[in-house]
Amino acid sequence: MPDILLTTLNAKYIHAAFGLRYLLANLGELKARAGIAEFDINQRPLDVAEQILARNPRIIGFGVYIWNVTQTTEVISAIKRVRPEIIIILGGPEVSHETSGQRIVELADYVITGEADLKFAEVCARLLNPLEATSPLPKVIPADLPDFAKLALPYDLYTEDDIAHRIIYVEASRGCPFTCEFCLSSLEVPVRQVPLPAFLEHLQRLLDRGVKQFKFVDRTFNLNVNVSKAILEFFLARYQPGHFFHFEMIPDRLPETLHESIAAFPPGALQFEVGVQTFNEEVGGLIKRRQNYDRLEDNFRFLRTNTGVHIHADLIVGLPGESVESFAAGFNRLIGLGPQEIQVGILKRLRGTPIVRHDLDWQMIYNPHPPYEILQNKLIDFATMQKLRRFARYWDMVGNSGNFVATTPLIWEGDAPFEAFMRWSEWLHGKTRRTDSIALLRLMELMFEFLTVEKRLDARAVAEALWSDYKRGGRHDKPGFMKDYLTEDVIKSESRSKASLPKRQARHLV
Ligand code: SF4
Repeated sequence: MPDILLTTLNAKYIHAAFGLRYLLANLGELKARAGIAEFDINQRPLDVAEQILARNPRIIGFGVYIWNVTQTTEVISAIKRVRPEIIIILGGPEVSHETSGQRIVELADYVITGEADLKFAEVCARLLNPLEATSPLPKVIPADLPDFAKLALPYDLYTEDDIAHRIIYVEASRGCPFTCEFCLSSLEVPVRQVPLPAFLEHLQRLLDRGVKQFKFVDRTFNLNVNVSKAILEFFLARYQPGHFFHFEMIPDRLPETLHESIAAFPPGALQFEVGVQTFNEEVGGLIKRRQNYDRLEDNFRFLRTNTGVHIHADLIVGLPGESVESFAAGFNRLIGLGPQEIQVGILKRLRGTPIVRHDLDWQMIYNPHPPYEILQNKLIDFATMQKLRRFARYWDMVGNSGNFVATTPLIWEGDAPFEAFMRWSEWLHGKTRRTDSIALLRLMELMFEFLTVEKRLDARAVAEALWSDYKRGGRHDKPGFMKDYLTEDVIKSESRSKASLPKRQARHLV
């Protein structure tokens, strides 16, 4: 039974908790007295509390994030009622700012704010040896920024089970030099780079253990071009079919020195998450996110024309100064650049971010409950924001899922993409009254109806597009509603995804 239990509720089972592994790796002499227990937010809080208490820890460290703060509060509340003597320490972005008044903070004994990799060990040592302490610990303990060179890297803590079933997160740098006001990484946290030789040694060990898919959590992977190039070339030299590497990029910085390495990867092996956020320069100025749109467009064109990179581009709805028309223009411009996926994110008011300075001028009203999404602002009323929220959800289901690669563009054939997709979105909502999930066949049938009846497209062309999308997922049964429109030639034609890549990305490839 460990004295110290590190725990968190992940958003999904496949998300291995990277932060907990960093804390464990850096516990020094206490490492042997500590363990990790991971849960996910779909488990019942009382069951989670029961499993934690069964390990009988003296100290519990909770990782608290926007996606788990509600459930974690319930877990801690139960633990404190049943075993009040157990010491609860919180950490993570959700409790690193604006701590006062938070229910979860009231329930806990201590909160470590900021990067707690080394501070957690220090606090645990004090708590486990109270006689050596000269003064009591404050409840809220700020962590100094750790020097990367002094941190033990956590990669050997990934188990065989993690490697077989979960996303493996890695990190070459922390911090971001940019100042986008909606983002926690903008809070004057300097960029620090992990010592590259040690990092590459760990990557090699992970490759040797069979890791095929790596997700880099660096906020701006392409900031230090020499490091980015070294890492890309490291992977390129070791590339095997099925390898997949995810990086977050700033879109207007892709120097020529990186072009050759990026282009050398086979299609689908690299995924770049590219934060565009807004195409409106005035909005960009308001939120202190300035980008060079010409360079951004050149980089998109290079990636789409000369490389096999899968681009996941981000846009945000609800930024101060961004009207529906301005967002629509940005969305249409982005569609023209051809990324495989567009994440339409609804603005969140993250604790500690300076976006709050616009609350008054732009009448920003946020949901007080996590994930603190915008409800309305001066330019977009609540009803319209709800439409945009549905748009985002359906876009994910249709445009991003890879299930409708051939059919999605038919939605805006002859029209502007945003306006046409909004029409489909509202029609679909009128038919289903739900945005959580719609079975694939039902969604196909509804899309067939919309495209042929509402949009009056040729039924045979629509059926062929839907059929090629359907087969891409490896399915062969003919959905009844389109049997009459498919000829034998169309039915027999091949269209299969690359099974070794992540499913969604593989579907986009064909
Ligand atoms: S949005 Fe991206 S570029 Fe802007 S501060 Fe955050 S991490 Fe940095």
